[in-house]
Amino acid sequence: MTEKLYDVNSHLKEFSATVLFCKDKKAVLDKTAFFPEGGGQTSDKGYIDGVKVLDVKEENGEIYHYLEADIETGKTVDCKLDWEERFDKMQNHSGEHIISGIVHSLFGYDNVGFHLSDREMTMDFNGMLTREDLKRVEQLANEIVWRGAKFNCYYPENLENLEYRSKLDLSENVRIVEIEDCDMCACCAPHVENAGEIGIIKILDFCKNKNGIRIWAVCGKRALLDYNNRYQNDLKISSLLCVPQTEIAKSVEKTLENIESLKYEIGGLKRRLIAEITNSFVSECKVSVLFQDGFDIKELQLLSDALHKKTGDMIAVFSGADSEYSFAICGESEKLDGWFKDFKSKLNVRGGGRNGMVQGTVLNTKDEILGVINELD
Ligand SMILES: [Zn+2]
Repeated sequence: MTEKLYDVNSHLKEFSATVLFCKDKKAVLDKTAFFPEGGGQTSDKGYIDGVKVLDVKEENGEIYHYLEADIETGKTVDCKLDWEERFDKMQNHSGEHIISGIVHSLFGYDNVGFHLSDREMTMDFNGMLTREDLKRVEQLANEIVWRGAKFNCYYPENLENLEYRSKLDLSENVRIVEIEDCDMCACCAPHVENAGEIGIIKILDFCKNKNGIRIWAVCGKRALLDYNNRYQNDLKISSLLCVPQTEIAKSVEKTLENIESLKYEIGGLKRRLIAEITNSFVSECKVSVLFQDGFDIKELQLLSDALHKKTGDMIAVFSGADSEYSFAICGESEKLDGWFKDFKSKLNVRGGGRNGMVQGTVLNTKDEILGVINELD
């Protein structure tokens, strides 16, 4: 059976081992520091004898290294972990233990789900927490980081007198991860040696999940990257709004209020414009056509309806640009239905309607539209 070097030394980045077996790009070593997938954490990556390690899995008590190519059985090989990725996972997994330990001791909830991928860390608890609760948990978690609480991982000889958290009901070979004055939990993964290595613990988001809560959190380098992303966003918004970064939320709120009042003002002006167009409109043919800039469908409907009511004629109003016009056409139902059928068949039209009003979009030029209307008139 492979000696699990990661169990006793989580900071081992390079090691030598003997290849016990290798077939179909699947190798077993006499000892390994590559942590296999397990306990909610994905496997380590790296190189064995210069060959890329794609995945590591523990199957029936054996640790298999899935490689990009075969390596020689019996050979002594140099192995190297992708340390950056491993350390990132240790920072986050150890941070998760601190959060889960605090949630358990403050609220009595159990961690019932944990997922740590290269990008995201989530943890599920079997009880609900408020934003305020999470703020308190985050503060206490970071206090444990600041005091550099020791992590101690071991296989205890006697489990009976130990009070520890566990997702599985195991009775033997239980590895305990103990965090000084904070938590004790069964876990097979490598962890930091002291909480100071985690750097920072930041809870990002949460949602209701079954009868409890799911939490998203980032620790260490991930938290710094996340901070930098948010910082760049704030910087951009602050320069667009010409306000200090600390004022951006207030400024966005004010800008949205201004947009709302402008929309209201524009709505009033458009209604006045519709009334003025209607007052001065003189119909010249059976189907009157009007191209009006900056009107949406609703405004086109209002205008065509007002003009139809005034003249009794069929009125077609368009707004937009060549190949992307919106339109509303108002007229006597019977006449309009047949006319619109012909109009639709001759142009690229999407839309329809009833009771004397049709609307939609037409993907033709102004000249093409006028040509067809004159032809149908
Ligand atoms: Zn764990």
